[in-house]
Amino acid sequence: MKIICIGKNYADHIAEMESKYDKVTSDPIIFLKPDTALLKDNAPFYLPDFSQEVHHELEMTIKISREGKFIEETFAHKYYDEVGLGVDFTARDLQAKLKQNSHPWDLAKGFNGAAPVSHFLPKTNFSDLQQLNFRLEVNETVRQQGNTQLMIHKIDAIIAYVSRFFTLKKGDILFTGTPAGVAAVKAGDRLVAYLEEEKMLDFEVK
Ligand code: MG
Repeated sequence: MKIICIGKNYADHIAEMESKYDKVTSDPIIFLKPDTALLKDNAPFYLPDFSQEVHHELEMTIKISREGKFIEETFAHKYYDEVGLGVDFTARDLQAKLKQNSHPWDLAKGFNGAAPVSHFLPKTNFSDLQQLNFRLEVNETVRQQGNTQLMIHKIDAIIAYVSRFFTLKKGDILFTGTPAGVAAVKAGDRLVAYLEEEKMLDFEVK
């Protein structure tokens, strides 16, 4: 399976990163994480030794339910049945260095354990996937709070776009971007995330 991520999909996060990005005309920014980045079942996240600044990025996730390519946006909803949450852990110091040299940022985002994912819920649990609140608490303090209606590129548009380049396969997971509030984690932190009022993630940083 593969993990497909979109960068810069919430205006407030773009602002906090001071990114130069034209949200109206720009195509989605897409990157991948290897399957070895997956962290399941609330397993602890171990800080890597090559970074002093690993940021949490809480994101809504979509699990792809059937194979497809060149998917039209209007049919994209037929390619997923379940949604959840995930953390797009990012070694921000390493990413900054890579960006500075115009190098790919794979190492900063794709390292082991850089993609904790929650269990998945049937999308039929929700009346509108583009109207969902989600939030991250670190040590019981709210750090990130988002609503999926604020995505610049909506779920179905991302799927249509990505499937022009990559064949989507059953079991692939799509990370849909993070709202503002990203910050460094440290050993001993406890991260708890909610999709609406359902607790989805609850794990420790070590
Ligand atoms: Mg992200």
